[in-house]
Amino acid sequence: MKTTDLLQLAEEFGNPLYVYDAEKIKHQYKRLTGAFSKVEKLRVNYAMKALSNVSVLRLLKNLGSGLDTVSIQEVQLGLHAGFTPDKIIFTPNGVSFEEIEEVAKLGVQINIDNLSVLEHFGTNHPKTPVCIRINPHVMAGGNSNISVGHIDSKFGISVHQLPHLLRIVENTKMNINGIHMHTGSDILDIDVFIYAAEILFNTAKHFKNLEFLDFGSGFKVPYHKGDIETDIEELGKKLTKRFLAFEKEYGRELTLAFEPGKYLVSEAGYFLAKVNVVKQTTSTVFAGIDSGFNHLIRPMFYGSQHGIDNISNPKGKERFYTVVGYICETDTFANNRRIAEIHEGDVLCFRNAGAYCFSMASNYNSRFKPAEVLWKNGKGHLIRERETMDDILKNQIIVEV
Ligand SMILES: *Cc1c(COP(=O)(O)O)cnc(C)c1O
Repeated sequence: MKTTDLLQLAEEFGNPLYVYDAEKIKHQYKRLTGAFSKVEKLRVNYAMKALSNVSVLRLLKNLGSGLDTVSIQEVQLGLHAGFTPDKIIFTPNGVSFEEIEEVAKLGVQINIDNLSVLEHFGTNHPKTPVCIRINPHVMAGGNSNISVGHIDSKFGISVHQLPHLLRIVENTKMNINGIHMHTGSDILDIDVFIYAAEILFNTAKHFKNLEFLDFGSGFKVPYHKGDIETDIEELGKKLTKRFLAFEKEYGRELTLAFEPGKYLVSEAGYFLAKVNVVKQTTSTVFAGIDSGFNHLIRPMFYGSQHGIDNISNPKGKERFYTVVGYICETDTFANNRRIAEIHEGDVLCFRNAGAYCFSMASNYNSRFKPAEVLWKNGKGHLIRERETMDDILKNQIIVEV
């Protein structure tokens, strides 16, 4: 998107504002499916926890995407957006047994990541197809070392528990139709990912009625110039080759599934906020914006480095700024960052604001959540209104005691 378009949207819809570029989402979707074009049956399930606005869900639905969900509320939101149950997979962790049963009753594919839940579910619903989430204990590290750490991860059923897992399946005669992994770490090295995939293939061999193999996500997108990014084309080539060979070995056609969140929406998002104050101290110059970690928590929560541009003065001379929020505690977006000269009233634009930004926003400090705009065909469409005082007061009950 052009700087001038973003600036105009900030004027039209006010600050702070989330903007999503529909073309970029489409581009990422096509790039991913293109990298796996040699796979007959490919399924992309968008991990909607990254960004769950219904209009964004509809956009992905129209591109042919399925949905990856982690709560029954996400399932309901997906159905509301027009996804049919057969296009949704439920991959929860630590939810109640009743919630899993309720989702299964809706006709949604469930994915179980705990032996006791598996046994309980298989005993009560032996006919319902179930996918199993495996923990391959492979961690993609910063170098090409394959780490078998992650032993303490709460996700998935350990591959080391395979004998126990097989006994449960045999005793309950339950229907296992998919095997899944999602390590949750960024894929910095494709060979590490392929190594984990081999563990998945080896696990899959033990099940006779599989319909799909789900390789989760972890696709890394660049957050700044020179940042590492998953080479999706190379991954496509290597994994496709292995997948096709496995299909032959397995003796039947399988669906290859992924569930990317960040990859599809991160770079499509922009967060726009206005500078309230420029504050020179003895150590730095603070630029204080009309937002905080209530709207964009990733820098404080994960140490994420979001690119920041001053779109009101894009050609200005670069200076060093510490960009902070208006929340009454430490609330830093960037430390000593080079940004084009900032004046009070300027609009700053945060990049990579599509994934895990609005969806993690809160009302801390009793602030309203921002509005959201979808940019399509050169026009901004409001897809969520800015909150008002009614939203803050909703559900609150005054009791004088
Ligand atoms: C969050 C999540 C994803 C998406 O991860 P990204 O890093 O955003 O691609 C995929 N699968 C599961 C099970 C998840 O919980």
